[in-house]
Amino acid sequence: MTMPDHYYGIDLGGTKIELVACDASLQVRYRQRVATPTQDYEALVRALVSLVRGADDALGTSAPAIGIGVPGIIDAASGTHLCANIPCLTGRELLPVLRAQLQRPIALGNDCQCFALSEAHGGAADGAASMFGLILGTGAGAGYVIDQKLVRGLHGAAGEWGHWPLDPHLLQRYELPLLPCPCGRVACLESYVSGTGLRRLHAHLTGGEGVSAEQLAARHNAGDNEAASVFKLHLDLLGAALARIVLAYDPHVVVLGGGLSQLPHLYTGLADAIRPHLIPGLGVPPILPPVFGDAGGARGAALLARQATITQEP
Ligand SMILES: [Zn+2]
Repeated sequence: MTMPDHYYGIDLGGTKIELVACDASLQVRYRQRVATPTQDYEALVRALVSLVRGADDALGTSAPAIGIGVPGIIDAASGTHLCANIPCLTGRELLPVLRAQLQRPIALGNDCQCFALSEAHGGAADGAASMFGLILGTGAGAGYVIDQKLVRGLHGAAGEWGHWPLDPHLLQRYELPLLPCPCGRVACLESYVSGTGLRRLHAHLTGGEGVSAEQLAARHNAGDNEAASVFKLHLDLLGAALARIVLAYDPHVVVLGGGLSQLPHLYTGLADAIRPHLIPGLGVPPILPPVFGDAGGARGAALLARQATITQEP
């Protein structure tokens, strides 16, 4: 099969939309950013179409396929979005409208899936037989990649570990509150282990407001015992979650992404936090920092387009 010579990847975020045109060897040949119209759906569609047409004009050709990374949840049955960062997208569909206007294959994925694909191609998990790209940022999500190909599953939900329920034993042991999740359920892991969750854990242990991950890390480095207790609790919850990920997916490599991936203690402490929750004797996969991180979103979306072109996904 002849490979098309370039792909467009679009990272649709809460503040900006970035389009990159990547060639077949994943080099970025063109890049453009605009502000995201978060409150006006028609303006959002216009901005996306205009970015693509602008790239077509600049490159003198049109990419055969487009990949778009979108935060939030895409309802498998209706195709509608649930997106806190881009309110005008919630309850609306994007794919049919863009396909009708741009007349080419378009693949949608979430931002975590794009991150994982990017790290599996030239990133921290380059060439790994399987990898789990695990985001710990505002939320908690992941992409699961086997042989450099994203595994979406039937509903595109493979790797949505952030909405697994928190282990009831841990809820009880730490007397944690039953926190509501934007997905509509309570006590999803995301509410406790994401960047926002870390702040909540601090508030829970101290009875105060809770501080950011950066502030906690600074206090931890300065020898603050309270910060150490928060990180210990966070590591225990994460360790239990990652033990389940090992038992469900057994990835060859785990790459961390999102804001919390900059916390050095995760790379030294997570393996020991996972082991007590695993079957005795079972190994722990390498846990690595990202190469591209969040900056790989648009690149990952271009990979999504490439994958869609190769596999002829709808
Ligand atoms: Zn949830």
